[in-house]
Amino acid sequence: MSEEARKDRLAPVVETVDAVREAVIAAKRRGLRVGFVPTMGALHAGHRSLIEAAKRECGFVITSIFVNPTQFAPHEDLAKYPRPLDADRRLCAAAGADLVFHPGVETIYPSGFSTFVTVEGLSNILEGKFRPTHFRGVTTVVCKLFQMVPADFAFFGQKDYQQQTIIRKMVAELNIPIRTRVCPTVREPDGLALSSRNVYLSHDERRSALALSRSLTLAHEYLAQGGSDFDLIRQRMWALLKETPLVEPDYATLVDPDTLEDVSTAVHTVVALVAARVGQTRLIDNDVIDLPG
Ligand code: AMP
Repeated sequence: MSEEARKDRLAPVVETVDAVREAVIAAKRRGLRVGFVPTMGALHAGHRSLIEAAKRECGFVITSIFVNPTQFAPHEDLAKYPRPLDADRRLCAAAGADLVFHPGVETIYPSGFSTFVTVEGLSNILEGKFRPTHFRGVTTVVCKLFQMVPADFAFFGQKDYQQQTIIRKMVAELNIPIRTRVCPTVREPDGLALSSRNVYLSHDERRSALALSRSLTLAHEYLAQGGSDFDLIRQRMWALLKETPLVEPDYATLVDPDTLEDVSTAVHTVVALVAARVGQTRLIDNDVIDLPG
């Protein structure tokens, strides 16, 4: 196949549980490792990096595309969330995905659905404070997807740091036989973390959105130089966000990489986490920072 034809190819798509499960079983029967990349679509280079990472490790890669209603609150952007299926299938094919699983809402949540999975504690802090039902929706859908797509490996982005922490805890505590991998955040050249929601930003908001990655850089540089006043750096991160036009911060903090609790004393590694509304768009970002010494 020529390079041109490869670029235009749409990855094959299945919509039913039986079809996706059969594809996984058939791949395993052929002796292939199966990698799984769950997404909500509107794919960008961040998602692409997950698919490529999956392809490096696995002979057969499945990407799911499902805009999961249970992780959106009623006032959030479920209805307007972008759904460019053909472009997504093209990106999947170019990145090396063998199959797209694109179930309908009725397939995932048949009428009368009432079983939910919750990781308590971790789901109520940080993002959970601002989006109280969000992680319950995420863990429920990911747990269901793991039953439908019994892959060997699942790939997640560090971009959603709290989400991958919660999913890894769920996998461990529910003994789900899948190994999780976490891949680095892909950014625009100026530092903005790629997000499907960046398309909502106006020109001025796009500029202001840089305050998130800048506040992380501020923390990174301070800590890398041996700074240890965690409260001071939290205040500086908050102030940087707060003084940027169009930006309304929700939180800016330094936490333990596993418990996600605020750190106050010296540790090896901290995670700087920020969340802010930029105009109407809510963005999050983070940086994992190894402390010197
Ligand atoms: P989403 O479609 O937003 O639910 O994201 C699907 C997966 O892509 C999640 O594991 C995200 O963490 C990951 N992801 C989203 N943005 C990025 C990014 N900029 N870099 C790397 N991974 C990302």
